[in-house]
Amino acid sequence: MICRKCGKSMSIKFGWEQDEDARPHYSHEDEWVCSCGFSMRCRRYSDWFGGDDLHKEVNEYLANHDEAPIKILYSDFMACIVWHDEVVVFGYDGNEYCHSFAFTNEEPDIQPVVVEMLGLSMGEMVKDTE
Ligand SMILES: [Zn+2]
Repeated sequence: MICRKCGKSMSIKFGWEQDEDARPHYSHEDEWVCSCGFSMRCRRYSDWFGGDDLHKEVNEYLANHDEAPIKILYSDFMACIVWHDEVVVFGYDGNEYCHSFAFTNEEPDIQPVVVEMLGLSMGEMVKDTE
């Protein structure tokens, strides 16, 4: 991982004690740290079936898209990529399984009705009843 502040190579500060002869034991407490003081959450994971790095998976996913998403949200080892008309969720659930979901806006015409039902546009509803 390259430090986004100074461009140097970062190293992992493990949350759990490591056995130098064995493969790394990743945890939720691992952090990427840089000598310049910058740090960020490490999202590498592993279990009996293998492992990966969520940051790498997100980069690979974005490499297939020309534009940048609106937002990238993280929850542990899962990422949520928000596009204008689609939301994609993928990653490792922390307990043996990897998942991926894509949600698309299949019913754009229904959405204003839903907003009204939930009372999310009260101002307009009051105006309508006058
Ligand atoms: Zn740095």
